[in-house]
This record gives sequence, structure tokens and C-alpha cells, in this order.
Amino acid sequence: MEAIKVEAKSLLNRLKRRDDWYKCLYTLNPYRGCFFSCPYCYDVAEKRRGKYHIYPSEVSKQIYVKTNASEVLRREIRRKPRDVVFIGSATDPYQPAEEKFKVSRRCLEVLVEAGWPVEVGTKSLLLERDLDLLAEASEKAFCCVFITVTTLDEELVKLFEPSAPKPEERLRLVERLSDAGINVCVAMIPVFPYLTDNLNHFCEVASEAAKHGAKYFMAGELTLPGEVKNRFYRLLEACRPELLPKYRQLYGASGYIQSSAYHAKIRRLEAEALAKFKLSREIALKAGLSLQDFL
Ligand code: SF4
Repeated sequence: MEAIKVEAKSLLNRLKRRDDWYKCLYTLNPYRGCFFSCPYCYDVAEKRRGKYHIYPSEVSKQIYVKTNASEVLRREIRRKPRDVVFIGSATDPYQPAEEKFKVSRRCLEVLVEAGWPVEVGTKSLLLERDLDLLAEASEKAFCCVFITVTTLDEELVKLFEPSAPKPEERLRLVERLSDAGINVCVAMIPVFPYLTDNLNHFCEVASEAAKHGAKYFMAGELTLPGEVKNRFYRLLEACRPELLPKYRQLYGASGYIQSSAYHAKIRRLEAEALAKFKLSREIALKAGLSLQDFL
């Protein structure tokens, strides 16, 4: 995979309103495109004129590295009100290129130095390199790391996340982060309809999350916007063709599940798993303290 250096004009993306799930108000992505290339990822697509198109990285196997990200971020945080920043909302900030470029680390340094609350989402074991900064962020303001574990089923992992670190390795990372006093949420996102949307599966992932010291667990539906849907359907057609008609029915033309009964089912499975393994879904910035205490 080729890494192309680019200069970012801006970095912090302010959401229209605080995110219900992550409680962040800003997102930040040091990279565009992702080495891990999970076939359900919308980072390989980009939205133009309201429609998703296949992102160039899928075709040309390129990722874009925002080499000046930390300088841009330093400028931006001087002008913006302090709030929770989620690093890696669209693309994995600790994908292999980070080992060389250290753009995510430098962004984290800027935020921690300024005492901003931070969250990081990743599947990568490289995150452990920055344990010192994550611990400092936890001390100074607030920090929560979201480690994605969609499934422990080897066949499904091969199919859907062939290039990412194995889920068992990610769970060991969960344990090391938790042992270091860092808040960890195991994110079972996405849930694959007719494959992982059952109580056994939810309980298997939630039980491992709890066993490895995670405080939080959340599950989220698979979305297949625009071209991502065609790409994912091509994979299903090749590997699980019997599921294709069911997916077509569930997703319709939009690429989003419209059935409120299906969404209710996912919330029910999540609630059962949370209760069974005494995990929480609500990211609390610190026990007994509200968000305002950090801002
Ligand atoms: S690791 Fe995350 S950002 Fe990277 S391809 Fe997979 S889903 Fe997308």
C-alpha cells in the first residue's frame, strides 16, 4: 500500500451536535483510506454530492497521510472551545503507516498537552505504543479507547477483516489498556445481519470484553451506503450467496436498515448482553462528574 503525503487545510471536524454514542463534539482523522481494507468500510468510499463513491484507495491501494496534522490541530484548538475529540471516526488512526509517520501520536500529544478530553477508535495493536499519552489524558481530563471486535468467529474474521489484527490480540490489548487504568469500550460494530445478530454472538463478545477488563460495550448496525453496498454484496455473492436475497430485502435501495423491528432487536440483544456481563453502554466521562467538569 502506497502512502501519499498531503497537507491538511483543516483537521477538527465539529459535529452538528454532541454524538449520542461517543459523547464527542469533534472528530479528527489523521489519515484518509485504511490499510486494513475491511470490505464493509465506508472509508473506502467517499461522499460526493450526497452519494458514496468508491474511494481511490480501493482501486489504487493508496492511503493519504496528513503530515501537518498536529500543526493544524495546534492552531485550531486555540480558536475552538474545548470539548471531547474522537480520533479515528472514519479511518483507523493506528493503521500500519502510523508506525512510520506518527501523525496520530503527535495529534494526541497536542490534545493531551492542552488538556482536551480524547477518545480513540482502532483495531490496531500499535495503539499500545501511545499508552503513556493515553494514561496522561486519563489523568488530566478524560480518555476512552474504543476497540472494535465484531466477532470471534474465525471464518467471519477471514471474510470481513482479513488484514486487521486478530480479535484475540485486540482483546489482549483491551486488557493491557484496562490494567493501565484507561477506559475501554469494546465496540461490536458492525453487527452482520443473519450472521452475528443473535444472542450467542453478542454474549460471546461481551463476555470476552468483560473478562479482559473493558468497562463499556456497544453494538451497532451495519450500514452500506452507496457503492459500499455493491462492494459488500459482491463479497456475499462469492462467499455466502444464500444471504444475498435477505440482505437485499433488509437494506432495500438505501443501504440503511429501515426496519424499526430490526433496530429494536439489536438494542434488545445489546441490553441483554450488557446486563449479563455487567457492562455499561453509556460513556461516563468520570464517575460522579458531568461533561461540564471537563470543559
Ligand atoms: S480498520 Fe476500520 S477504518 Fe480501517 S478499513 Fe477496517 S473498518 Fe475501515
